[in-house]
Amino acid sequence: MTTTQLANVPSLLPDLEGIYRDLHANPELSKQEKRTAGVVAAYMTELGFEVTENVGGYGVVAVLTNGEGPTVWLRADMDALPVAEQTGLDYASTVTATNPNGDKVPVMHACGHDMHTTCLLGAARVFAESTAEWSGTLVAVFQPDEETLHGSAAMLDDGILDRFPKPEVVLGQHVGPLPAGTVFYRTGPVMAAADNFEITFFGAGGHGSMPHTTIDPLVMAASAVLRLQTIVSREVAPNDSVVLTVGSISAGFNDNIISDEAVIKLTLRTFDLEVRAKAIASIERISRAEALASGATREPEITMTTSGPTTLSDGTATLRVVDDFRSELGAGRVFLMPTPAPGSEDVGRFGFAADVPSVFWFLGGAEASLFAPPADPLKVLASLPSNHSPMYAPQIEPTLQTGIEALVVSGMSWLGASS
Ligand SMILES: [Zn+2]
Ligand SMILES: [Zn+2]
Repeated sequence: MTTTQLANVPSLLPDLEGIYRDLHANPELSKQEKRTAGVVAAYMTELGFEVTENVGGYGVVAVLTNGEGPTVWLRADMDALPVAEQTGLDYASTVTATNPNGDKVPVMHACGHDMHTTCLLGAARVFAESTAEWSGTLVAVFQPDEETLHGSAAMLDDGILDRFPKPEVVLGQHVGPLPAGTVFYRTGPVMAAADNFEITFFGAGGHGSMPHTTIDPLVMAASAVLRLQTIVSREVAPNDSVVLTVGSISAGFNDNIISDEAVIKLTLRTFDLEVRAKAIASIERISRAEALASGATREPEITMTTSGPTTLSDGTATLRVVDDFRSELGAGRVFLMPTPAPGSEDVGRFGFAADVPSVFWFLGGAEASLFAPPADPLKVLASLPSNHSPMYAPQIEPTLQTGIEALVVSGMSWLGASS
């Protein structure tokens, strides 16, 4: 059945490649995906889906009910990044936009979300045109604002789980500089949880020559920066992976003035929920302790500015999908990821909130011949532009076709079973 559906994909590609080029040339920043959402909504409406716009910002939810059976969510993200495109492609972006600070910035689909969106449009079309082959409910979730890790939370806050059929499984993919035509899977953590913090230390300001009359928050912050490194080196088991980076520290304006506050900003990346909870508790404890050690009269303010959960690919559900990937795409196109990717995604919130499994895989987008033996695949990977690079652009083909196929096959793992 799926074989028949996949046989139809090539005939859809010319149209979809046009949509991809259009989306690539017209990228929109996070929370500004109005045009993209319009393109998506029009396409999905024409396919016969019941389409709801403006879910959690510019999110689009499209539902196709086709008899009894499970409900499957296929999710794609739609936003682009403030990057000046340097790919030299004839459909490269020259777009600029105004960021939340009011600055004019270049905009580029440097993370490939235009590919994710187009693949989901294609897969939706395959399902809409093959209703005799499956049974159940397909929900296509086009998510805005992924790059700030806010979009899935915004859609959940806007009632996506109450307003639309609840999923039995959430399926999604991310394109990357892996061989085009292939998919890479993993069970358990696929991408890291990201938790970003802003910590303000409060002291008592005064003249630089009279430190005894002050409480110096800069020393508190400096000491905290060093002590925070001991979370990774002294508190986390050697086999658990944690990254903690303080990326910003600011205090004061002058050499001879002791400031009354100091602010540090840090990012924490973890793969395990318990390790994450422990590291967050340690960040809080160390920050408070450094303030106390300096004699601060006010506790530091610790704010989690953004947070995205670990992307976990459920073991049982992933192996079900991978079995079907192997039989429908061919075993030579399906690979195990040896380690999780250190980047982060916010797709995991949907599965966590609905208490259902998620399956998330990587889609190759780079020239496959570069990886052919005797090349060292890891060296090839390191030599290619990564996501977020001004040079990053997936090959349209066979990436688009493979991404559509992967979504159709994975959706059919549930929707095809009961037809
Ligand atoms: Zn990204
Ligand atoms: Zn991305």
